[in-house]
Amino acid sequence: MPEIPDLENIKAFLNGVLPGVKVTGVETRIPLVIRRPIPQEFASILEGNAFQEVTRRGKFLVFHTTSGHVMAINAMLTGHLQYTGPETRRHAKTCFVLSLENGMELRYYDGRLMGKVYLVPRGQEALIPRFEEMGPDALDPQVTLELFRKRIRRYTGQIKGILVKDTFIAGIGNAYSDEILFEAGIYPFRRRPTLTEDEIEALYNSIHLVLKEATETIGRRMNGRIDLKIRDFLKIHRKGQQSCPRCGNRIGEVKANQRLTNFCRNCQR
Ligand SMILES: [Zn+2]
Repeated sequence: MPEIPDLENIKAFLNGVLPGVKVTGVETRIPLVIRRPIPQEFASILEGNAFQEVTRRGKFLVFHTTSGHVMAINAMLTGHLQYTGPETRRHAKTCFVLSLENGMELRYYDGRLMGKVYLVPRGQEALIPRFEEMGPDALDPQVTLELFRKRIRRYTGQIKGILVKDTFIAGIGNAYSDEILFEAGIYPFRRRPTLTEDEIEALYNSIHLVLKEATETIGRRMNGRIDLKIRDFLKIHRKGQQSCPRCGNRIGEVKANQRLTNFCRNCQR
């Protein structure tokens, strides 16, 4: 699932190529992911429309257009955006293709068709399920340590489950929650009330450090391939059975709540 570091880079790339560019054609191949409006309307609103800025809200990328509509995409687990020329072979699960007046295509493909795409008039984002229920973005400068402490007090469950909850703070998913908890030295299954004030502060600092470093790493490597998910540099997520980069112990792995969680039992207390 794309998370803040991926989405920040996709957003930056698209803001370099899309604003001012008109959509000349819309081909809907697998309409299932288009949740609103109906596919014919989706196509007729976008055709002849031009892109403006691309923004991000939690795990949604939001494409602003000159007609005043916004296209919001939550790629969920397996969705990918692709910006390429028409000659590039299409992924089998390409759901829609927007032909652009600059000769390029913006495509969306999704191996498991779990992503969600919405096109709504600006100001009516409440039509997008879970969009307005989202808490502040994890990197929102208004989320100070003080506000972070205040918000996290409302939750009593396991700390990893809280980090991935969009209603708490938005934009962190399964992969980066593992990385953040490893950085902070906190065992993912601890319940929030057992965390000390110092641990909450370490968690807050780790969110910023991990997301910022990962955003930079992906930025150095992406080269316009916004469809790639660059994750090989992560320290612990999906590294079960390998050695902990800090202490050398075997990295643990637990599958629970339909999520894979990796941690080091020695480094994370
Ligand atoms: Zn370790």
